[in-house]
Amino acid sequence: MGKCLHGQAVNPPVSPSAAGSLGRRPAVFMDRDGTLNLPVIRDGNPFAPANVDEFRLFPGVPAACRELHDAGYALVVATNQPDVGRGTQSQAVIEAMHDRLRQLVPEIERIEVCYSPGRDEAQPDPRRKPEPGMLLDAARDLGLDLTRSWMIGDRWRDIDCGQRAGVRTVFIDFGYVEQLHAQPEFIVKSFTEAARIILAQPESRKLNPAS
Ligand SMILES: [Mg+2]
Repeated sequence: MGKCLHGQAVNPPVSPSAAGSLGRRPAVFMDRDGTLNLPVIRDGNPFAPANVDEFRLFPGVPAACRELHDAGYALVVATNQPDVGRGTQSQAVIEAMHDRLRQLVPEIERIEVCYSPGRDEAQPDPRRKPEPGMLLDAARDLGLDLTRSWMIGDRWRDIDCGQRAGVRTVFIDFGYVEQLHAQPEFIVKSFTEAARIILAQPESRKLNPAS
């Protein structure tokens, strides 16, 4: 079975105070390709950019992430990168993209990556979306409250992953040919719209007493 490599190498160390003294924090988990950065479309479905030069964020993503962070949400990226496990992409290129992503969106607290090729359907890797492992690992390490958290993504795997982790989900609908399996809480047309919906929830306005 292909073993899933964890994304720890690109994650900064977690300070003991990260969980905070006021209890567990909520998070916004974010898919990467097609959610934060523009996908490359092939046969009506989205795929990852091939190199750092192709890695471009959708307009408004850094500002929307800053608002979510300022409202009190931990920002965690959760991304399947099966091309590494399949031998058609190098892990170094993926890590370079994530260095770039951290430069563009410094509020991102953690990037969880699953490199599993995803070929063993009988024994799926517990960290490969739609399995919830990446979200559960981040929640454990960062002290996150999943019941108050969200997952934003553009494919059925993101929505199923969020539901299996017990978070609420926002689906960005680009009209891809694939169908959803589970129903999300909200369907939107962009990441910035997803962020607006989360920030408009009454609970979000109570999160950060300083704001
Ligand atoms: Mg995606």
